[in-house]
Amino acid sequence: MTETREVDLLIAGQGAAAFAAGLYAARYQMDVAIAAEQFGGETAIGGMIENYPGTGDIDGFELMMKFKEQVDALEVPTLNSNVVGAKKDGERFRVELQDGTIVNALSVILAVGRERRKLNLPNEEEWTGNGVSYCSTCDAPLYRNKQAAGVVGGGNAAVEGAILLAKYAETVYLIYRGEKLFRPEPILLKVLEKTENVKVLLETEVSELVGSDEAGLTGVKLNRPFEGNDELILDGLFIEAGADPRLEIPNQLGLELNPDTNEVHVDRMQKTNVPGIYAAGDLTDGTDLKQTITAASQGAISALSAYTYVMEHPSKLGEEVEPVAASAD
Ligand SMILES: Cc1cc2nc3c(=O)[nH]c(=O)nc-3n(C[C@H](O)[C@H](O)[C@H](O)COP(=O)(O)OP(=O)(O)OC[C@H]3O[C@@H](n4cnc5c(N)ncnc54)[C@H](O)[C@@H]3O)c2cc1C
Repeated sequence: MTETREVDLLIAGQGAAAFAAGLYAARYQMDVAIAAEQFGGETAIGGMIENYPGTGDIDGFELMMKFKEQVDALEVPTLNSNVVGAKKDGERFRVELQDGTIVNALSVILAVGRERRKLNLPNEEEWTGNGVSYCSTCDAPLYRNKQAAGVVGGGNAAVEGAILLAKYAETVYLIYRGEKLFRPEPILLKVLEKTENVKVLLETEVSELVGSDEAGLTGVKLNRPFEGNDELILDGLFIEAGADPRLEIPNQLGLELNPDTNEVHVDRMQKTNVPGIYAAGDLTDGTDLKQTITAASQGAISALSAYTYVMEHPSKLGEEVEPVAASAD
């Protein structure tokens, strides 16, 4: 039987933005639920986090566990299922989860992050985790003492990945289709230039993944030869070609996008163009600094906006408790 829940606020996501929103919403005594199939978001798979204030160097998974524990302690329910549909239904939003649960929510915070860009080549999906990776920070140590690894991309993440991999693999090929690398931070470029075992292949694309189902990826074919070869033998290939905001649910709700970045457009209070719908974290154009700390900050702000909205609309919260001061203490 389909389960139906009524809440003041549904938060889609289980990353930094979502948990921070959950924490603040629970402290505003909202009737709130969090929904997402996968725990932790990108922070949890990002390896060591060295720039989150107050924690020192910490594994991203562990940091997200701390976020979740704080929310669990306030008894915010986590529904382990993704949002697959959302639409306005009278005063409320009717949100459908993958497992069939229907959540009728007065307000919604979307904190669903971004999808890593793929090359869309045959076998890419099958060999992910078996030679193909989208996270050099997470998987680079697996290539200790290996012969060769490739990195596809030309931005900061790709350059950072190549430098990191060069500490493990004997040779690293940085493969980029553009004429020059895509505006990497100058300091990264300097380090790259000094890293002798990284070979940069510009105006070059991976045209085919080579390997087998047993061995996984063993190499790649290139659209133009490098040092006379149109094939590179590789132990692993890292695809660091950027990420796109997850727009399925925002599109269903008719949310305005930033025309330049294709991210969900929000104002300084994380409001979208649809009253009652807020967005936070990497999904949005709230900041160019896509980091755990900014995602958490935007999550907190979006909870305040949702709280203010819900207080202005009929809800369980309005009936049962005195409004708490909407300040950040
Ligand atoms: C390899 C790597 C290393 C990084 N290193 C650092 C670092 O050192 N320091 C730092 O500050 N930042 C780092 N970042 C960036 C940081 O991880 C992100 O900025 C941050 O995770 C963004 O948080 P978010 O909550 O917006 O999105 P995410 O963390 O991406 O979380 C999105 C959540 O939404 C869920 N979701 C997806 N679709 C749906 C749906 N339909 N319904 C419900 N839920 C859904 C996902 O499962 C996930 O739980 C790194 C990122 C990567 C990829």
